[in-house]
Amino acid sequence: MKEVRLRFAPSPTGYLHIGGLRTALYNYLYAMQQKGSFLLRIEDTDRSRFVEGAIENLIHELHWAGVENNEGVTLTEDEVSEIGNCAPYIQSERVKEGIYDEYIDQLLKSGDAYYCFCSKERIDAVKDQQRADGKMPKYDGLCRGISLEDARKRVAEGEEHVIRLKLPANKDVVFEDVIKGKITINTDDMDDQVLIKSDGFPTYHFAVVVDDHLMNITHVVRGDEWISSTPKHILIYQAFGWDIPKYIHLPTVLNKSGKKLSKRNDDVSVEDFREKGYLPEALINYLALVGWSPKTNDEILSMEELIEQFTFDRVQKSGAVFDVDKLDWVNSHYIKKLGIKEFSEKVKPYLVNAGFIDGDISEDKLQFIAKTFQDSLSKLSDIVPQSRFLFEDMEMEEDGKKLMDDNAKVLRDAFVEELNGIDEVDEEFSKGVMKKIQKKTGIKGKNLFMPVRAMISGNLHGPELANIIEILGKDKLLERLKKLD
Ligand code: GLU
Repeated sequence: MKEVRLRFAPSPTGYLHIGGLRTALYNYLYAMQQKGSFLLRIEDTDRSRFVEGAIENLIHELHWAGVENNEGVTLTEDEVSEIGNCAPYIQSERVKEGIYDEYIDQLLKSGDAYYCFCSKERIDAVKDQQRADGKMPKYDGLCRGISLEDARKRVAEGEEHVIRLKLPANKDVVFEDVIKGKITINTDDMDDQVLIKSDGFPTYHFAVVVDDHLMNITHVVRGDEWISSTPKHILIYQAFGWDIPKYIHLPTVLNKSGKKLSKRNDDVSVEDFREKGYLPEALINYLALVGWSPKTNDEILSMEELIEQFTFDRVQKSGAVFDVDKLDWVNSHYIKKLGIKEFSEKVKPYLVNAGFIDGDISEDKLQFIAKTFQDSLSKLSDIVPQSRFLFEDMEMEEDGKKLMDDNAKVLRDAFVEELNGIDEVDEEFSKGVMKKIQKKTGIKGKNLFMPVRAMISGNLHGPELANIIEILGKDKLLERLKKLD
């Protein structure tokens, strides 16, 4: 049986989009399930969109998420490197090696492609006229009639040109998308696609077909914004007489308002999610469910379970909603499951960056602080707002202020007295002090706990009171208690 080979083929335009990660993930899941190959190819033929460092960034984010390719571009000690028999896997490198030259030559000779010398101004004018006439704007095919011999002469003389695909007239191009079903587009509704640009670089459309063929790709899994390009690709395959891969177009990732995720309104880059403290296992688990559901309706799935259960026939046809609240829920599940050592190491940078703790804090202390918040975080960075009251001067909230009556003063005095009787707050003290205050004052229950909590944390809600007392320590507690006069 033929080896199943899938690829993720991003353009290095700066960052990995969360929808791109989902595409990569579905490719990966299927390839791993079928014991096939998952390769990473970089499509950088649009030089105007190239961003320095973007390739490294893409690979870094994919690998952070655990979506590891076994072929193509990878990182070795932070440097881009390549593995596999189809190298190079970066299209600009393939251009340098002249890989596309022989294939375009083949299409020119067979008459499936032609040189076009029309200026941009002329084409714009043609399209303006077509629009005015209520027609679909497209190239009018003026250069189709130039013989290859004449065209080559003009090219040799240095005349500026592109190379276009010569579409057959009025032909239905039909393909069966694995998710969307049968799709038919007529060539009259298509344009003579540019295959080679005036800078000599192939367009995406030409390079993607040549490369998918040369890399023996069996399944093309990509976002559904590419559906309208697929007939062009199929015509190129047909012109070469090559086998056409299976096409699988994934539903667009939408935000909760049903709009395409946009940088302006939403977090869109994987980096944003990583930096906010989403765990890779959680992000992957949730992303898998954006547009797909397992038969069992389970919501918590490891990568191994996803590989086992993933099928394209359970991918929905349209609009998949990315719900950050749901992601938060999944993430908090994974955060709660972390061992305390691992968890405290993960939250440490957030606490250090906020200036709450020193980098050389003892492991015990760090773990105690971390544990105090572990069950209440949706993402690691939440520890900063949630623990701020412990490390910075706090403002008392209005609800708390209302409780600052004579009763509170009695509690305050009792608490201060207890603190004056010790050198340092330890576990025994922090766990026992409320009971002592209760005995001393006769105040109990809510009337005891709420005012004390408000006095030392500024808030009526939050983590365990004993933990707050232990983390604050004697001096800070006294300072806060004495604020009440
Ligand atoms: N380079 C295209 C992109 O940036 C890949 C589309 C495809 O997978 O064919 O999304």
